[in-house]
Amino acid sequence: MTERAAPYYRPVAREVEIFEHAREAKLPLLLKGPTGSGKSRFVEAMAHKVSRPLVTVACNDETSASDLLGRWLVRGGDTVWQDGPVTRAVREGAILYLDEIAEAREDVVVVLHPLSDHRRELHLDRHNESIHAPPSFMLVVSFNPGYRRGFKELKPSTRQRFISLAFDYPAPAIEAEIVATESGVDAARAGKLVALAGKIRKLEELALAETVSTRLLVAAAQLMVRGVPPRLACSAAIVESLTDDRPTAAALQDLADLTF
Ligand code: ADP
Repeated sequence: MTERAAPYYRPVAREVEIFEHAREAKLPLLLKGPTGSGKSRFVEAMAHKVSRPLVTVACNDETSASDLLGRWLVRGGDTVWQDGPVTRAVREGAILYLDEIAEAREDVVVVLHPLSDHRRELHLDRHNESIHAPPSFMLVVSFNPGYRRGFKELKPSTRQRFISLAFDYPAPAIEAEIVATESGVDAARAGKLVALAGKIRKLEELALAETVSTRLLVAAAQLMVRGVPPRLACSAAIVESLTDDRPTAAALQDLADLTF
């Protein structure tokens, strides 16, 4: 088996150190920050660094406890138990990443409580089994604290089970380095994209549901590398991804045209 290359992750603060201590101290970790700020990439890089499998589950309000833990299935004439992703992650001693935990229903979050404290246990009531997580198991969750914009909040009683790392869009020089490395675009255009992002992120009056992420800048740069003219790349990857409102789109495109 060939070893997979390490995912590229550019540390922004002391998040690597905190992750490593959290893992050794068996503390669950909450990554909070806006969409596209590097939370998932960070977990991928850390899982690779500590050589553990990563099990990622995107939470939403339709996810049930059985989706996560497992269920009985009828196969041929038999009923067989099938582990869900959370159960599998615990058995394997993997890193379990529950993305957007605040979107999960309360009954689902409650099932995770014994896993997130000193007990480190998962109770499979339907399978009449309790699993104790092996030392290598780690629970990581993410949360987008965009409370002003209609995202769900996380209950304080759940939040207090985790140590927390705040993610945000990195300082311009670091963000430009990420955009250039991820896309292969030259430093000049990476710098311009980040400068454009700086202007858009200051525009509170446009009332965007979410502002431009590092992910969108990387996408714009990827289009440019493929030969798409910069203004058109900004239109497709940034402007139209941020808004459907025509006047707002026109205002954003003006900024892009001024930059390129
Ligand atoms: P999130 O999980 O916060 O929504 P992601 O981890 O998916 O965001 O990041 C989106 C993209 O932004 C990544 O695919 C990567 O291209 C880029 N990115 C953001 N921050 C970093 C970073 N610190 N190092 C490397 N790539 C990053």
